[in-house]
Amino acid sequence: MNISSVKAYPLSIPRPRPTWTAHELSTASTLILVEVRTDEGLCGYGEVQGGPQALICRLIEQFGEIVCGMDALAHLEVWEKLFALTSPRPGGIRGSDGLPPPLPRGQRPQIMAALGGIDIALWDMKGKAANVPVYRFLGGLRQEVFTYATGGYYDVEAPLTACAEELGGFVAAGYRAVKLKTGALSLNEELVRIRATREAIGDALLMLDMNAPYTVQECIRFAHAVEPYNIFWLEEPLHWYLQPPDYVRLADAISIPLAHGEREWHRFTMRDFLVSGALRFVQFDATRHAGFTEALRIATLAEQHGVVIAPHTAPHIHGHLVSAFGASAFAAESHGDHERNPIHHGLYVHAPAMHDGMLHLNDRPGFGVEIDWTFVKQHQASS
Ligand SMILES: [Mg+2]
Repeated sequence: MNISSVKAYPLSIPRPRPTWTAHELSTASTLILVEVRTDEGLCGYGEVQGGPQALICRLIEQFGEIVCGMDALAHLEVWEKLFALTSPRPGGIRGSDGLPPPLPRGQRPQIMAALGGIDIALWDMKGKAANVPVYRFLGGLRQEVFTYATGGYYDVEAPLTACAEELGGFVAAGYRAVKLKTGALSLNEELVRIRATREAIGDALLMLDMNAPYTVQECIRFAHAVEPYNIFWLEEPLHWYLQPPDYVRLADAISIPLAHGEREWHRFTMRDFLVSGALRFVQFDATRHAGFTEALRIATLAEQHGVVIAPHTAPHIHGHLVSAFGASAFAAESHGDHERNPIHHGLYVHAPAMHDGMLHLNDRPGFGVEIDWTFVKQHQASS
């Protein structure tokens, strides 16, 4: 069974009101759906969270031409062939091996995103070919996977403590763990938000998602100030350029566990974080970069270093990994508010149900979802 075509569908839904993380403005919910077809009529679907969408879609189409004719079950062969294009190779500039010259270094995030989308589609295909869900394919059995709801995105026109009402609502709806966007405002303002949220959610687990606002010293001060609110983890606490040794210094100075990984592109940077001993949770996101194959490699290494996986978003995909990793997995992230991620909630038919704070995977093959093509037509972005 060989790959016969690869197609990308960029989707976008404008937000009614723009919102911020500490790091960036979001004016639309976006996603690129990736479709891989085979010469036997089987289809696999993957997705990419990233931008610019036009560049990623162009790369997906280009990669599709390269992998056309390859064995659709040979996901490692496909992964390595595409990844190899990011490095020089003998004769590569002449293209004498029939492949494109080395890919531009300035496009690496988009290249890793495009590779990831195709890889996820191949895992969906693999499950469908074997007629088992991906979690079963990995040897897992659990259909119930712990999940938590992320909220508290900054709306500059909303009251400071609007986050408390929002996250309290998630807990009232059955979630037993919630994650609050933090890090955009002064320490005093953040303490007001965190205190109000803790009061609103009672004993539920509370994680802080910081989006890289601090130096090590600033974060030590922040962590000591929020300690009384029983914080489950600090996520992505340090500036983007800080590295594992900086996380080690932070971890040594505070009592709150650290989580990191959603912005990493591949297993080699994740390896250095995992072996450093600084992290308690790793949040690699297969839909942003490098796909399910890389997420699986990272999860395996994390397990050996006592780091628990807690993949970033896309619970219908990452939930399969969490199911298969037992005690080495904490949860798959979801959004308590459907408006936060309207594409995930509208694109997939048979998406796993989310209730009682759990993600409920189903018995359907692959990732267990089908595509609502009417939704795709309605929200396809011009690319
Ligand atoms: Mg985050």
